Amino acid sequence: MDLKNTWLTVLHRLEPTLPRAKFLTWFRNTAILDIAGATLTVGVPTAFARDWLHSKYALKILQALQEQLKDIKELEFAVDALLADGNDPRTVNLQAVFSDPKDKKIRKVAGREEVSVTTEGLRSARLNPRYTLANFISGDENRLAHAAGLSVARLPGQTYNPLFIYGGVGLGKTHLLSAIGHEVITNDPNKVVVYLTAEMFTNEYISAVKKMQLDRFKQKYRSTDVLLVDDIQMLESKTKTQEEFFNVFNTLHNAGKQIVITSDRPPAELTGIMARLQSRLTWGLVTEIEQPSYESRLAILKAKTQERRAILDPEVLDFIAMNVSDSVRSLEGVLVRALAEADLLHTQPTVRSLGKILEKLHKKERIIGLPESAPDIQIKTPEAMIQFVAEYFEISLDDLLGSSRCREYSQPRQIAMYLSREVLGLSLVTIAQHFRRTHVTVQYAVRKIKTDLKKNSALVRQVNGVKQELGL
Ligand code: ADP
Ligand code: MG
Repeated sequence: MDLKNTWLTVLHRLEPTLPRAKFLTWFRNTAILDIAGATLTVGVPTAFARDWLHSKYALKILQALQEQLKDIKELEFAVDALLADGNDPRTVNLQAVFSDPKDKKIRKVAGREEVSVTTEGLRSARLNPRYTLANFISGDENRLAHAAGLSVARLPGQTYNPLFIYGGVGLGKTHLLSAIGHEVITNDPNKVVVYLTAEMFTNEYISAVKKMQLDRFKQKYRSTDVLLVDDIQMLESKTKTQEEFFNVFNTLHNAGKQIVITSDRPPAELTGIMARLQSRLTWGLVTEIEQPSYESRLAILKAKTQERRAILDPEVLDFIAMNVSDSVRSLEGVLVRALAEADLLHTQPTVRSLGKILEKLHKKERIIGLPESAPDIQIKTPEAMIQFVAEYFEISLDDLLGSSRCREYSQPRQIAMYLSREVLGLSLVTIAQHFRRTHVTVQYAVRKIKTDLKKNSALVRQVNGVKQELGL
């Protein structure tokens, strides 16, 4: 087990729970020294720190530790004077890792990747800000890749080098690669992270050759701490560029700098890549991202729906998860279509409407979970709609059209008005006549249902239920 990594995780857990100044004072130059059975020893630089941590923070530390190491029951604190100088490899550089975002400015280093700063932290200019570890869903299909990514982000150059991640299109390779970059910079803002695709590398190289700026090109990579190369398969059959990449790889690897590479195939199948380079790609850890399981697909859909602050009927999410299995990208594609439909047409997507989208997108012969055939119901008039909704909610016509404000009646009433407007396309005035109300009341009801459909999932289910019965 990696003690430093474990301690870093503990510090990340503790930091938000303590005043900043206290945190920086008391946890500076601390480390995990040893684990023996159920006892873990925390090393501190001075006796003063030992007494303070022991009396004030022991419980908090123990709790944070137990989130990772369930079996630890007891903490000991020991003074280790070697920790005091701040350069001990067992300790974490608190100032760098937990630097205050407010203190940072935009930093430009000549020939280096530009690093910009926002209140959410540091970002390398080329890293996609949407691709973070926080929103990368981990499941059986990517568990090893995810864990390895986390590990190299915490201790670049020290665990798996290179880390080689491969898998099919749209399975999250670029997302994970960018997330590693963000994490490195968050852990240590002084690290220089370079992200680029193999194609960008090729273009940079060709242009450097043309402009006779090969030295500058080489210099850029020499000063890199973490090199993230996306889609290495693009180097196939480009002998000269491969040669140059081979040199960059060796320089960085020899200097203990981290390299992370993605590819659509495992190294052995990169037949257009020269053998020397191919073999180096397997030096560290080679790990695959596979197609997401049904459970992961559902988890991803739920997370992405929440991210967009939208609500979809759980049945609809389930239906998408069942039918779209090839990649996370297509899963997102269908979700975006469904949400766009909800947004633009002000209707909630149903299993049936989603089925139509899927038929168009995927030309699938067999769609799973679609109701067999549309029920043969033809509702064309407001009277029929009122009758239908009353029956669906099992209330009498008098109650539906009456004036009771009790939810049991008022909600079906509003739903009936909403459907008369949205499904039958009737004017507010016409609906008002049939419901024996003013058109302002109808307008209010229709708006209310529309707004509530964006935040109330029980209502979404009810409205979808009625629509399903209506054959929509
Ligand atoms: P690849 O590079 O493997 O072709 P991407 O990284 O571009 O795939 O992923 C495609 C889309 O799917 C992106 O929008 C990404 O955010 C999303 N995605 C992929 N895997 C996951 C995951 N495990 N959790 C959350 N989103 C994911
Ligand atoms: Mg990609």
